[in-house]
Formats: sequence, structure tokens, C-alpha cells
Amino acid sequence: MYNVMSPRAEEFISDEEIQSSLSYAEQNKNNREVIERILEKASEMKGISHKEAITLLDCEIEDLNERIYQLAEAIKQEFYGNRVVMFAPLYLSNYCINGCKYCPYHLKNKNITRKKLTQEDIVREVTALQDMGHKRLALEAGEDPVNNPIEYILESIRTIYSIKHKNGAIRRVNINIAATTVDNYRLLKEAGIGTYILFQETYHKESYLELHPTGPKHDYDYHTTAMDRAMEGGIDDVGVGVLFGLDKYRYEFAGLLMHAEHLEAAFGVGPHTISVPRLRNADDIDADSFTNGIDDDTFAKIVACIRIAVPYTGMIISTRESQKVRERVLHLGISQISGGSRTSVGGYYEPEPEDEKSEQFDVSDTRSLDEVVRWLMEMDYIPSFCTACYREGRTGDRFMSLCKSGQIQNCCHPNALMTLKEYLMDYASPETKTIGDKLIEREVLNVPNEKARAVVTENLRYIEQDNRRDFRF
Ligand code: SAM
Repeated sequence: MYNVMSPRAEEFISDEEIQSSLSYAEQNKNNREVIERILEKASEMKGISHKEAITLLDCEIEDLNERIYQLAEAIKQEFYGNRVVMFAPLYLSNYCINGCKYCPYHLKNKNITRKKLTQEDIVREVTALQDMGHKRLALEAGEDPVNNPIEYILESIRTIYSIKHKNGAIRRVNINIAATTVDNYRLLKEAGIGTYILFQETYHKESYLELHPTGPKHDYDYHTTAMDRAMEGGIDDVGVGVLFGLDKYRYEFAGLLMHAEHLEAAFGVGPHTISVPRLRNADDIDADSFTNGIDDDTFAKIVACIRIAVPYTGMIISTRESQKVRERVLHLGISQISGGSRTSVGGYYEPEPEDEKSEQFDVSDTRSLDEVVRWLMEMDYIPSFCTACYREGRTGDRFMSLCKSGQIQNCCHPNALMTLKEYLMDYASPETKTIGDKLIEREVLNVPNEKARAVVTENLRYIEQDNRRDFRF
């Protein structure tokens, strides 16, 4: 039985509810009246239900599809403006005891080089990341209680936060590690993590069990209730996602939104972010051998419909996607992107030697961070290195109230400009700096509150002339 509040995975991700929502959408995909009614509700920008969202996703009426894309863009503009938050992944270890059939880190893969960064390696890697200009990391590790115990992750977080090299600092560490216990989530919270990220991979239980035949990750219920435990452990910024390509996208889309609805209903705060990774080729993984891959058009529509369904939830895209695809979905709802990423264990300090292979998947967008920053600015986006919210205690529902208060333009916009200015001063190429300085000059005028505008202008001057850093609202 479907119960959005239930602590049980099979009740808040109820297969019966998903099937009935999918058939409702199928029946109404050409029903103008129903779809227009949903669009009217959606245009209030307060979100819509999974059943309504899947109907928009299925919609086959051309002019209404146009309206869907326009609304997604409008919502993106309203809540995120032209800011795009930058981050980089850091792979700590590819030791893993799971048997995930889509991931080259699976236990039986003997082709790849198993590696785990020591604390000294981490210092080198993070110094290199700071020298690129990064301020926000997503830590990644395989699941292996012997090689990657929680103590190792905690020690690594401490090391990362302690590294202060030139004007650099990692100010927010997000964590993508396997489902764990409430106690461990509490420890992660105490270590000062930003978001706890865990992809569901697939919400379809049968496929999940088949795709994760061995190892602790085989336990669908434990994996699916991880965010509940994270919330219980005090982490109120959680990031969800599915790996598109594993099962049918309509099913995954419905499951993803039901998961968001569950967290909102049970804990009063929905997910902080949703990631939309698509399956990629990797060492012994052939993405084409999975039959549920989605094309770029479907992918774009998924992004647009998520944007409409959960306006307050950030959306993340990685370098799994090409420049072209990234450009398209940025308009429709993506608010965070990675740049200059390496998916090998290490690889920022010096490229991985030819004969070593520790990569998780092939990267499509191989540009440097400077190139990605410049490209964004050439399209009039503001690359933001802001990490203010969580450092000011604006997590969970306090972040959501900032979104709902309409004060984003007086808070996030200045923070984006000030952190971009730091990037331009410390790390940008001359060409990027010229474009960026002009952008900042224009964008300062878009801070609505006069007082805030004056403060930003003054701080920008301090950053440029006095080498001062880390201003924030
Ligand atoms: N080990 C952790 C866990 O169990 O969730 C998470 C870290 S894993 C390094 C990060 C994510 O990479 C996985 O959740 C999965 O969705 C994604 N991934 C694995 N194989 C992939 C592939 N071949 N292509 C794209 N993404 C992949």
C-alpha cells in the first residue's frame, strides 16, 4: 500500500502507485484539458505531484510541450537566476565489495588498478584542486568496510578542510558513499559535510536486485531508506538521483519524485539536490548492452519536468555529459555542474599513468575548469563558487525558506559574484578574467536591494585591491 509517510521503502516507493501513475499518464498524454490544468498549477512555481509530473513527461501535444520547456526555463530563472554552482569530484578509493553490474569497481573486476588515496595523496590532490580554483568537492568512494571504513572517510574530510594553500580552500565537502547507519551519518554531519549524496541507481526493486547481485548494496530496502537514516542522523541536505539507462526512465522518474515527496512529508524537507547521471562506458562495462538508454531529447524533457515538479531542489549534471548536452539542459533546470573532473583515484596532481586504470567511467566533457567557466560566462551564466548557505547554517528547511522568501537575488546573486571575483583574481586565464570582470560589472546592477548592492561593490573592491577573501551573505 502506498504511504508517503511510511518508513518502509516498499510503501513510499510503492510499485502499485508507480504503475497506476504511469497508466494515468499514458491515458492522458494527449488530453489537452488535463495537461493544461497541470500546467496552470505548475506555473504557480510551487511544484506538482509525481503523477502530474509524469503526465507532463509523457505529453505528446506539441504546443503544450513548448509550454513545458518555457515554464522549466522560467522556474530556473526565478529560483537560480543565471548562477551555476561549480564543483569537482574527488575519488578517494575504488576498492569495493559490491557486485554492481554497471560499475567497473565491482569486486570481480581484475582489470582495474585498485587504489586508495593516503592522507598525503589527498593533500597533493586537494592542493591541485585548489590551484584550479575549486571550493566545493564531492567525495566518492567504493563500499569496502576494511579498506574504506568510516574512520578513513572522516579523516579524509578533516584533511581536506585543513588544507589552506595560497588563497585556496575547500569550503564545502559533499559525500557520495554507500548507504550506512544513523551513527555514521551523525559522524559525517559532525565532520561538517555539506550534502550527503546517494544515487538510488534504480527504483525498480526487481531490477535493483538483479543489478546488485552481491555485496551489502544488494539490500534494496536498506539502500532505499538511507536518506531517512541520514536525516535521523542530523543531515538535512541530502542529494538523490537515479542512473538513467538501468531501467525504464518513466518508472525511475516517478520513483525519484516519490522519494522527494517522501522526504518532504516525513522530515519536512525535500532533497537538496537531484542528480541525473546517465550510464557511460567504463572499463568492463558496455553501456550499449543495457537496453534502457535514453536519447538526448528524452533526457532534456526529464530535466525540464523535474525542474517543474520540485522548483526548490538543485539539479546536478556531471562530466558524463558532453558540452552540447550540458548546454541544453542548463537552460532547463540544471543548477550545479562539475568542471575539469577526473574520475580516476587521484589524477588531479598528475595524470594517471597509461598502464594504470582506476577510472570509474569515461568522461565526455574533458575541458579544464577555466574553459568551462569561460564557456558559461560567454553564455551569460555566472559560474558560482559559493558555499555560503551551509556555512551560515542555511541547510534543510532553512535553505528552503530562503528559496521561498524571494531573497535569493539579494543573497545568492551577490555571493556568486564575490566568489567568481575570487576565482578571476586567483586562478583565471587573462582571457577568462577579462570576460568575467565585464560580467560582474553588469551583474552587480542586478542586485535589487540598494544596501546589498553597495556592500557587494565594496567587497569586490576588497577582493581586487586588498587580497581579502571569503565574503558572504
Ligand atoms: N559506492 C557508492 C555507492 O554505493 O553508492 C557511491 C560512489 S559511486 C563511486 C558513484 C556513482 O557512480 C554510483 O552511484 C553510480 O550511479 C555511478 N556509476 C557507476 N557506474 C557508472 C557508469 N558505468 N556510468 C555512469 N555512472 C556510473
